[in-house]
Amino acid sequence: DPRVARISAAIRVVPDFPKPGIRFRDVTTLLLDHQSFKDTIDILVEKYKDKNIDVVAGIEARGFIFGPPIALAIGAKFVPMRKPRKLPGEVIGEEYTLEYGTDRIELHVGAVQPGERVLLIDDLIATGGTLRAAISLLERVGAQVAECACVIGLRDLKGQERLGSKPLFILVECE
Ligand code: 5GP
Repeated sequence: DPRVARISAAIRVVPDFPKPGIRFRDVTTLLLDHQSFKDTIDILVEKYKDKNIDVVAGIEARGFIFGPPIALAIGAKFVPMRKPRKLPGEVIGEEYTLEYGTDRIELHVGAVQPGERVLLIDDLIATGGTLRAAISLLERVGAQVAECACVIGLRDLKGQERLGSKPLFILVECE
């Protein structure tokens, strides 16, 4: 897709953020380029508009940027999956391990109904741990995670392997 090169070029790499040795992919610069931001959403909408998706679930925080415009365009509802103690209603959560320590992702009880088909969105997949936890949580409430989609995939971290056979769409592959 000829649009992907411009999208890729619009993503800034910030060295040593948030700590030394990490090359952080910064999507805020993609949002500043109207054409690239629009192309990003358009590509995902073209891909998922006829796939009977009931729910677009976005992972905090940057899944909240890309998820809602896709949900609106494909006629799905949008459901936020958040860090602990952010959602005000009754929640169900899933713990997952990070390089150091653990984290947790939460979902409002009743936001996703059993049998609903979910498209799971985040900005970036690294190890795949976050998406893996989000899939487990959605499956625990009886949802069917049809596919995951990320704007960026870090190839070296082999995130796809953590997702098993779950389909994963990546727009921009990085080393
Ligand atoms: P994983 O769980 O796949 O190891 O990490 C993915 C999560 O960490 C995503 O929620 C993503 O937003 C965040 N993340 C990790 N590294 C980066 C990065 O370089 N840039 C951005 N924008 N997010 C990152």
